[in-house]
Amino acid sequence: LISRKNQAADTVVQVGNLKIGGGNAPAIIGGPCSVETVDQMNAVASHLSQEGVLLLRGGAYKPRTSPYDFQGLGVEGLKILSETAKKYGMTCVSEIVRPEDVEMSCEYLDVIQIGARNMQNFELLKEAGSVKKPILLKRGLSATIEELLYAAEYIASRGNSQIILCERGIRTYEKATRNTLDISAVPILKQESHLPVVVDISHSTGRKDIMFPIAKAALAVGADGLIIETHNEPAVALSDAKQQLDLNQFSTLLNQLRESGYLK
Ligand code: PEP
Ligand code: MN
Repeated sequence: LISRKNQAADTVVQVGNLKIGGGNAPAIIGGPCSVETVDQMNAVASHLSQEGVLLLRGGAYKPRTSPYDFQGLGVEGLKILSETAKKYGMTCVSEIVRPEDVEMSCEYLDVIQIGARNMQNFELLKEAGSVKKPILLKRGLSATIEELLYAAEYIASRGNSQIILCERGIRTYEKATRNTLDISAVPILKQESHLPVVVDISHSTGRKDIMFPIAKAALAVGADGLIIETHNEPAVALSDAKQQLDLNQFSTLLNQLRESGYLK
């Protein structure tokens, strides 16, 4: 179903007024790693909405490596995210980790994210296929391009073809970046499938000093959008403090992309 052979035309996933894919302007998905407080979300959303960002992110169920790290606010986080997005005329996306939470999350979310660690949680994929919300499907930490496409096919096979694929870096021996951004995955995914493809420049690199060249590279190879983790006070963020841009850095990055013609 998701193959180019089955459908030649690009799928455009519409989220509110934002159109993702099909040659539309690159979609910028911004917001913190985790929803922490109402004040934090207001600070981030007011800034991002002024920059023209339409889709706000923020994790409420965090798949953390250590059980002792901040696990997210759960449904309270979904509520804060959703209310903040509405307040600033934005839509929102957040990760859901349990199949039984998918239906409940539809009340709060405009896009449901399936994270890298759950790309092959097949019951979650099937559940995501049974709702009428766009799904942001991230590539697994060690998943091949083919496995990502089959994961998307699971969702589509249950009746939901509003899927956005996300390249977020893969595990390699390289330590200079958190993951290795597989830039060639973007044109390959777009060749193999009609679904839109976005690049997460934060989780793929894990560092903020190379955001501009990486963002340019992603857009140059045809990405339909970028995910950029952004926090009002990254230094004290409860997760991914090292990689989140502060609000000024976010604006600087967008300005650099506009000045170099990658963004309008
Ligand atoms: C995230 O986007 O919040 C996240 C945890 O990313 P990933 O699943 O790609 O690691
Ligand atoms: Mn994160």
